[in-house]
Amino acid sequence: MKLTLLMTFLVIAGVGSVTLLSIQRERISFRADLEEQANAQLDSLSVAGSDLLYRLQLSGLQNLINSLSAKQTINTAWVYDSTGHLLVTKGTSSDYSVDLDPFGSKIVGSNDTVYEWQNAKLVAGKAVSLGRQIIGAFGIELSTASLETKLASLRDEGLSVALFASLVALIIAIGMSRTLTEPLRVLTTATQQIAQGDLSHTIAVTSNDEISVLARAFNAMTIRLQETVQGLQQRTHELQLSEIELRKSKEIAEAANYSKSAFLASMSHELRTPLNAVLGFASILHSGMVKDGAVLSPSQLELLKKIELNGRHLRDLINDVLDLAKIESGRMTVTITEDRPETLLNNTVDAMRSLAINKGLELNLVFLQDAPEVVLCDTRKLQQIVTNLIGNAIKFTAQGEVCVEVGASGLDYWQIAVRDTGIGIPEDAREHIFDKFQQVDTTDRREYEGTGLGLAIVKGLIETLQGTVKVQSALGNGSTFVVRLPQRLDRRGV
Ligand code: ADP
Repeated sequence: MKLTLLMTFLVIAGVGSVTLLSIQRERISFRADLEEQANAQLDSLSVAGSDLLYRLQLSGLQNLINSLSAKQTINTAWVYDSTGHLLVTKGTSSDYSVDLDPFGSKIVGSNDTVYEWQNAKLVAGKAVSLGRQIIGAFGIELSTASLETKLASLRDEGLSVALFASLVALIIAIGMSRTLTEPLRVLTTATQQIAQGDLSHTIAVTSNDEISVLARAFNAMTIRLQETVQGLQQRTHELQLSEIELRKSKEIAEAANYSKSAFLASMSHELRTPLNAVLGFASILHSGMVKDGAVLSPSQLELLKKIELNGRHLRDLINDVLDLAKIESGRMTVTITEDRPETLLNNTVDAMRSLAINKGLELNLVFLQDAPEVVLCDTRKLQQIVTNLIGNAIKFTAQGEVCVEVGASGLDYWQIAVRDTGIGIPEDAREHIFDKFQQVDTTDRREYEGTGLGLAIVKGLIETLQGTVKVQSALGNGSTFVVRLPQRLDRRGV
């Protein structure tokens, strides 16, 4: 509709401007023609009447201008004397006036023909001279009626052309809107439907023009879009299925892990009781506190020692497994008490001193200036962590020292660094040593005893206490384990 109106308006404007232009051009050329005609008329009057004017023969002059009546375009004519007084007017007997005629004096004062365009007429005048002397002038009035008629017919012609052209334009515009706008409207509707998610919509292709090419491309695009969406839906469905399966497997694995931990915890407990009894009885035998018991021979005593050693080893292993099972099943309880690190760590280090002395190592405890006075912590677990780290440090150090350094770490944390001058840990092994059953030396002929559970327990305990542990080491030059813990362990976070 908009297109139709626009086209009609453009055609009307075009035809209108062309008509106006030709009217204007016609008017200009007609004026020039009329002025030329007037000039020629005045010239012939001058030739015919200069003598009469010189002699002021008014009747002759009257006859001369009266004879102009044959010329249809000349309405009237005048003769002036050399000063611009009216002498004769066409059709009247005598017109001599004492008053100066303004047009007459204008003509005699001018060297050229004077033209004055008035409403629907042209007044022209020209002076007549004899030698250098002006002897009078002629003036004529020409009608422009013929021009007006011509212009009116031009206007009418323009109007009818404009009307006809508008009609044609209207018909063309309606035709175009059928062939152009309609397919575009169909395309727009289809786009809107697709935007709303209806991908089943296709556009009927009826011809071979550009719009049809567009429609074909549009249909192809819709089909591809449909395929992509179907593919995506299929993929989403598959992903949902595998997610469900994954969740199921995860739940099964978690349940299995929990059962394993629960089983280990109860089994360890069941194993510990008879083992403690075996160790207790061995110790009684060893101390000779058996009633009516005979004195044991040296080889019997040696065997008893082995029973005790292996029994203790087995008990330590069971204790480790029990701890790990508790950590993994989340059944590790935390008891928070307020303690002085100085007292606590002195006791722990003292308990390990004999072990260090046996290997000829120095064992030092250093408190830095910023070490906290008191901390809120689980004392038993902290002792277990530090004991384990010092035990490892002594185990993996042949000579030199083991040093425990205590200080602050940031505002709310404190740290315990256990440093040794031992064998060190290779770089690639550092990230695995905190995993269960991981040891750097896994050969059958390994030098150091152990199960590979110690550091896994240490890490689990530290995390239970909301802390972290890091290791720095240089192969052959020793290792440092840094434990970072909150100064005030919060029960809510445990
Ligand atoms: P293990 O019972 O074997 O000591 P851990 O979990 O305590 O088990 O330690 C795992 C491994 O990490 C050890 O076997 C050892 O190879 C390495 N390791 C731990 N502490 C040290 C240390 N201070 N110096 C060198 N190696 C260490």
